[in-house]
Amino acid sequence: MLSRLKSAALIGIDAIEISVEVDATRGLPKELFSGLPDTVIRESKDRIRTAIKNTHYVYPPNVYTIHLAPADLHKEGPFFDLPIALGILESTGQLKIPDPNALYIGELSLGGEVRPIRGILSICQMAITNGIKRIYLPCDNAKEASMIPDIDIMPVKSLRDFQNPILPEPHTLPIQQISTHYSQDFHDIKGQIAAKRAIEIAASGKHNILLIGSPGSGKTMLIKRLPNILPPLTHHEAIETHKIQSVNRKEHTSNSFNWERPFRSPHHSISHIGLVGGGRIPQPGEISLAHNGVLFLDEFPEFDRNALEVLRQPLEEHAIQITRANFNITYPANFLFAAAMNPCPCGYYHDKTKKCHCNPLQIQKYWKKISGPILDRIDIIVDVPRLNKEDYTEISSEKNPFTTEKIKNRVSETRTQQAKRFQTSKCNGDMNPQELERHCNLDKESKKLLGDSMDKGLLTGRSRDKVLKVARTIADISKSENIQISHLCEALQYRPKKW
Ligand SMILES: [Zn+2]
Repeated sequence: MLSRLKSAALIGIDAIEISVEVDATRGLPKELFSGLPDTVIRESKDRIRTAIKNTHYVYPPNVYTIHLAPADLHKEGPFFDLPIALGILESTGQLKIPDPNALYIGELSLGGEVRPIRGILSICQMAITNGIKRIYLPCDNAKEASMIPDIDIMPVKSLRDFQNPILPEPHTLPIQQISTHYSQDFHDIKGQIAAKRAIEIAASGKHNILLIGSPGSGKTMLIKRLPNILPPLTHHEAIETHKIQSVNRKEHTSNSFNWERPFRSPHHSISHIGLVGGGRIPQPGEISLAHNGVLFLDEFPEFDRNALEVLRQPLEEHAIQITRANFNITYPANFLFAAAMNPCPCGYYHDKTKKCHCNPLQIQKYWKKISGPILDRIDIIVDVPRLNKEDYTEISSEKNPFTTEKIKNRVSETRTQQAKRFQTSKCNGDMNPQELERHCNLDKESKKLLGDSMDKGLLTGRSRDKVLKVARTIADISKSENIQISHLCEALQYRPKKW
């Protein structure tokens, strides 16, 4: 007898529908797999046989032909254990599949328990698109799946559950906690007004930012506070972000949900694959785990140069394409890029108290590690000097305009202005050439200033556009309809000095 069940496989962060067909016939007992299964699926036969026996069913000695369609797609992972086991039980007349139009997915333990799998949000979304109304899935994935409305979530603990009716799990959208208390507040960092202002501009217009300063100047502390001033994730963004985390092997925690924007800070020793994604079983890298959040590269020049070059594509296109032998995978990677570095190899170039021991050649070589094209893609470059007590005056949080809460409110206002301008959640940092033309008009005086900067070789075509985008955000923060010369001057300050 032939049994047919719907299931799913993951490609990148997207899922596709797979039909699992099981046929049992008399003959010398064996299992025949077809439809490009990987080793994990081929090995599943022993696991499934044991699971069936351990849940008080029988495993009759037959020839089982197991086919996974579409046949031309390479399938990976333990997703099909549950539908294959149910197929075997149905084809041997021991069980009636409760709903032939539902989707079945899950890994089996030897005892027949159904274990959680990765990528459940992607699978649920695909199911809805394909008109599937019900999904039987591991109990431990049920809470995560219940974030997606419009589909019945049927949690399964064990193969044994199919002997009784399984009841659907109610949908629960996690409530967004809005907190006004921040464990890391900008107010805790003394001074550094210029850097705080630059970070506010970066957050307001989604501009990439590079902080340059000696060790101990507080660069890392400043950037770590950046996610707190960004607006909270929208529901759509939250699902998107969680989908990527759910597909990732290391990040996957099936029952946790976080409304905070991701903050990823990989170490500079990270591999190329770890940063951008890929691998034998493809996984999203740090740049995709930072989707809708912040990617922070501390000790920027210490990163592998090739890895930095690869950042150029996601910085422009907000996605990364991974080329595989037989197909391509695209992972989303739309993040606010932040980096920090020392001004020279020893770290104390231009420091007020410590002497720099580097010669000009060493400094030049250090800077060459981050190429011109990468620097060109950074909108805001700001110095963060080491401060002594006499360099700043202590102010109370009431008087301080740079507390996390106050910055967050201003960022939110500026983002609302941009949303009105673009009619989407787009920010100034992502303007295309036509939008740049339309929204960044300059008066005569400003045009001359920009032209002069280009004539002097201080700006390239690309960095000119960056300056205009930053100037637009500065104008928005000051609630100015047009870009004034003061806004342009400030934006020009955020270009790299000549080294
Ligand atoms: Zn030095």
